[in-house]
Amino acid sequence: MLLQVTGDCIFVTIMAHSGNRKVRVRFAPSPTGPLHMGGVRTALYNYLFARQHQGDFILRIEDTDRNRWVPGAEEYIIESLRWCGILPNEGVGFGDGPHAPYRQSERQSIYRHYAEQLVQSGHAYYAFDTPEELEKKRKELESGGSAFAYNAANRQLLVNSLTLSADDCSARIADGEHYVIRLKIPEQDTIVLHDLIRGEVAVESGQLDDKVLFKGDGMPTYHLANVVDDYLMNISHVIRGEEWLPSAPVHVLLYRFLGWEKNMPQFAHLPLLLKPDGNGKLSKRDGDRMGFPVFPLQWTDPATGEVSSGYRENGYYPEAFVNVMALLGWHPADDQELFSMDELIRTFSLERVHKSGAKFDPEKTRWFNEQYLRKTKDTELAFRLSERLITMFGFKKGDRQLSDTFLLKAVHLLKERVQFESEMTEKAAYLFVRPDEFDQQVIAKKWKQERESFFRKLLDAYASMTSFDEQSCEAVFQETAQSEGIKAGEVLQLFRVFLSGQGGGVRLFGMAELLGKDEVRLRLEAALEMIKHRSVV
Ligand code: GLU
Repeated sequence: MLLQVTGDCIFVTIMAHSGNRKVRVRFAPSPTGPLHMGGVRTALYNYLFARQHQGDFILRIEDTDRNRWVPGAEEYIIESLRWCGILPNEGVGFGDGPHAPYRQSERQSIYRHYAEQLVQSGHAYYAFDTPEELEKKRKELESGGSAFAYNAANRQLLVNSLTLSADDCSARIADGEHYVIRLKIPEQDTIVLHDLIRGEVAVESGQLDDKVLFKGDGMPTYHLANVVDDYLMNISHVIRGEEWLPSAPVHVLLYRFLGWEKNMPQFAHLPLLLKPDGNGKLSKRDGDRMGFPVFPLQWTDPATGEVSSGYRENGYYPEAFVNVMALLGWHPADDQELFSMDELIRTFSLERVHKSGAKFDPEKTRWFNEQYLRKTKDTELAFRLSERLITMFGFKKGDRQLSDTFLLKAVHLLKERVQFESEMTEKAAYLFVRPDEFDQQVIAKKWKQERESFFRKLLDAYASMTSFDEQSCEAVFQETAQSEGIKAGEVLQLFRVFLSGQGGGVRLFGMAELLGKDEVRLRLEAALEMIKHRSVV
């Protein structure tokens, strides 16, 4: 327990989960494709936990299944973590460390020893069954009404070192016959593990099959490599997705059989991410169907060339994305929603991670981006806006649209109206270039021939203004309407369409001020000209 005295309150923080052991956690993805949001969330929770406890956060690449290895996936994982600011202090792509190498394919020589140790101690065995033999056994058993599993009930019927003589086994191995090493799961045992999120999880060993630990090709499987590396890398906590919960009892047995129980890490299995509608697991298909990315960065499938969108390319701030990921499964004690990484490091706790699945809300994710956009400095937004204007419209140094005053005014008008920076130019291009189309519906509804005299008067009145600011533009507009005997409301929307082409948008007189006296005159004259030549009035 840690006693922390703050003012007159005493907070008692339970530290049981870190004990005296140095916190060392790992993110251990397999490079089988791009990192899914769920993977980012796992990495983030590991990172937050490590930073909070002044521990280490490791990136280990679990690439022992060579059939599922995808080129570019490892680089993608590293780049995604960098973009999110979830930075390991040991591991592939981050400067390695005392336990290098961190890529399992480079640790290949380590694992055989442990697989053989398990065989020696009677906790594992060689199995020589061919896929055909296994299939035959399966059919036999199924036709007799029992289900097939390679386990205590059936292993005596199969071709393995438990049923063959030692000489036969050695001869087969010496002959290069295909084999695997399987874990000998006890027939009847209750395996109990204490999960930091789920509490006690008990599994009957009879429900497990004899998992393959090591393959004839010299490669370990996930279970063996994962446990051996967690042990050798001195991992104190395994924080991973719920889909790995069924593997945890196997891992507990491995720790026991290898004599490492005292060093077994504590487990925390994170809740699933659920689709926005319904209760299923969130998949890429949901993203495609509902129009949101499920990957942090854009990904091009190297086999098919298919491109999947990413949060980065869709204009999300990494801080907003990370904020959303943090709240998918973890709830702070109060209602705070916006968290910087430092605040997350201070506030996050595994105790407040819930067991039930976390529903992903794409709408709310956009809202988060909007909040971060509003927090961004105007000067920063203005700078990036200028870059967009240069690429989109080809503006050059010296153009009015690239002046600091113009950019800052534009940012000011747009900041509260957009969720993404790209929308500043996409939704409001009219602030920067003249519209070439006008909302004909508004014109059809509001235009009457007698309005022309109002707009001509307005042109004159604006021409004689000395300070063309928002308030004065509005005041002069009102006065002109009054002098014409009409309500301003009858001509406001027309004025907007004449200036911007659109029936809605930023503050009207703010736009007038931004465009400036000359541009307003030019646009108004052009619009009146357009009206004159309309075929249908
Ligand atoms: N390689 C596993 C994965 O792809 C790691 C699971 C674990 O963290 O134990 O997620």
